[in-house]
Amino acid sequence: QAKAAGRNTVRFFDPVMQAAVATHAELAKEIRQGLQRHEFVLHYQVQMDTQGQCIGAEALVRWNHSVRGLVTPAHFIPLAEETGMILPLGQWVLEAACRQLLEWGRHRATAQWTLAVNVSASQLAQPNFVDSVATALRTTGAPPHLLKMELTESMLVNDVEDLIVKMGAVQAMGVKFSLDDFGTGYSSLSYLKRLPLSQLKIDQSFVRDVLTDPSDAVIARTIVALGHSLGLAVLAEGVETAEQRDFLAEIGCDAFQGYFFGRPIPALTLAATLALAPH
Ligand code: C2E
Ligand code: MG
Ligand code: MG
Ligand code: MG
Repeated sequence: QAKAAGRNTVRFFDPVMQAAVATHAELAKEIRQGLQRHEFVLHYQVQMDTQGQCIGAEALVRWNHSVRGLVTPAHFIPLAEETGMILPLGQWVLEAACRQLLEWGRHRATAQWTLAVNVSASQLAQPNFVDSVATALRTTGAPPHLLKMELTESMLVNDVEDLIVKMGAVQAMGVKFSLDDFGTGYSSLSYLKRLPLSQLKIDQSFVRDVLTDPSDAVIARTIVALGHSLGLAVLAEGVETAEQRDFLAEIGCDAFQGYFFGRPIPALTLAATLALAPH
């Protein structure tokens, strides 16, 4: 067990996954090797509009681990953050997402799709963050206006002035910003007004019981009203049923994402379901 092994160790994977115990250095090395061996993959989850049209997708990283199989982000993103490996991993995610946008650009059905990537606080805190986005766009040739970056409210606690400057520079390239898991953090409304956002994502914890828990319904309505009054689109995450979708559309949500429409899947699987034809 991690505890018995002492303070200097962290538990890498869940106990059910064999209770491997490793130091930070070993974990960092394992992630670095995973990157070198091309073991990370992006899965894509569709995002729909109120007309039932697919308008884009969110890229969600997975680790196709040689021993452990397909590992979800909850099992390695926190460790990647702690070890600093989130920086090369995040850059890989960004570039892989840009390459996918380019591929979608070749097919009529997907040419206008946006692609959202999750960006962590430490990526944004890097002095070269703006450059790294510019590099990803330039080296891939991806259309910036179809790229969306998902931030979380947890980023709004530290140097917000620095964040606003960097977001402004990236927005000037054409990239959009969305605030993920909205309602679960501590964002000050005055910051919300100042950040160059284009979208709020209602966290799935409010969507889950939105039909049965009146306070969740009130929260969802309030987020829609807040978002719209700030000129932002509002997307509901974690939509699992038609009834949830209908209710959320009724209260004014502009877009939806969740298992009801599709789980995160590899790009090739997604393409197969669409029977993608070139222009
Ligand atoms: P997130 O960005 O809020 O992504 C949504 C999560 O909810 C995904 O989990 C997705 O598979 C799951 N989900 C989608 N629809 C439903 C639904 O209808 N019901 C339920 N119960 N869940 C649903 P996933 O892929 O395990 O990712 C978890 C988190 O890991 C993400 O939350 C995001 O914060 C983080 N993450 C994923 N990819 C990246 C990445 O490339 N970079 C960084 N920094 N973080 C990432
Ligand atoms: Mg997200
Ligand atoms: Mg979310
Ligand atoms: Mg989340």
